[in-house]
Amino acid sequence: MINYNYEFKVELTQEQTSKADLYLEGCRKVYNYALRERKDWLNSRKCAVNSCSLYQEYIIPTDTPYPNYNYQAKNLTQYRKRSEELKQIHSQVLQQTLKTLDRAFEDMRKHEKGFPRFKKRMRSFLFPQLSPDCLGCERIKLPSFGWVKIIQSRPFPEGFIPKQCRIVKKASGYYVIITFQSDVSVPDPLHGKTSLGIDANISNFLATSQGDIVDAPKFLDQYLSKIKLLQRRLKHKVKGSKNWQKLQRKIGLLHEKVTNTRKDWHFKLAHFLCRKAENIFIEDINFKAWGRGIFRKKSLDYSCGQFFNQILPYVAWKTGRFFLKVDKDFSSQECPRCHNRTGKKLLSERTHKCPHCGYIVARDVASSIIIQQRGERAVGLRATRSSQSLG
Ligand SMILES: [Zn+2]
Repeated sequence: MINYNYEFKVELTQEQTSKADLYLEGCRKVYNYALRERKDWLNSRKCAVNSCSLYQEYIIPTDTPYPNYNYQAKNLTQYRKRSEELKQIHSQVLQQTLKTLDRAFEDMRKHEKGFPRFKKRMRSFLFPQLSPDCLGCERIKLPSFGWVKIIQSRPFPEGFIPKQCRIVKKASGYYVIITFQSDVSVPDPLHGKTSLGIDANISNFLATSQGDIVDAPKFLDQYLSKIKLLQRRLKHKVKGSKNWQKLQRKIGLLHEKVTNTRKDWHFKLAHFLCRKAENIFIEDINFKAWGRGIFRKKSLDYSCGQFFNQILPYVAWKTGRFFLKVDKDFSSQECPRCHNRTGKKLLSERTHKCPHCGYIVARDVASSIIIQQRGERAVGLRATRSSQSLG
């Protein structure tokens, strides 16, 4: 099963725009209500039953079941029948909102994310099902919206079925992300002969075992400092005023620009790397931990995690490259030529100088060569170290 996401700008009629706005607002209310319900339930379980009513306005009977997805979906169906506002919104779209909340709690349980927050605004909503004949020339037929005009920047993929679609509101207007699916299974590519090791690091964006050092994109900095400037200016405006809204929209457009430019750069870089070798090996880095540490600011601005976890594997797969993450331990402490441990390096130490064999190379390139070697060992292109020493 293969999924492809295609994003298009849509041109909604005035009526469709107000409908989409209504959908976003309805989804937001449902999300926040359902979150409140879960929060209240959890809070009511925190203290002893007999002291609860002293501190809390609400009393939830002890035998009330936890409001899980099924419980909330059932209630939503009942409530939707009575609510004039929710009646106008497709029931599946609202159910998806509850699923999103359910997933947020699941992520929290797995310690991947924090406690879900109330939403000040909803950015998107999802139609989980589309009819097979929903696509036309420069248009898509959405449940309850009817035909919607899209700016078709590229053709729909052939042999794929449109499965679901998400409507996203951005500063520059509404977009649709269509997920296409094919049942044809494409086997994962087998490893080839040539390999490239890639080292992700902080001082520059990445280094490769062929000696490339790719710097973090500086062109984003100018946008980001502009955003900061505008955000400072926003503080002096009256919240909600005409000027405030104008500035808010300007900031939104800049954010969109940053996201698009960065994504574009990521894709170009991924294609550049995938042209270099048949096997692509990268370090198995926990970018979430990176995002929390001292490098937080940088790694968020450049979205390292998105590049290494999503875009690079995707481009590798699409171009038929073999892709593998390898163990990252001590990759910067080993000499790629003689494999002696060279000890921990300071971040300021930019060159690898081996005291054992005299090998000199840029530090990050040394790490990426180690990663290439580890990858080659993992797929059997290179003898393991123990058998090397025996031979
Ligand atoms: Zn050495």
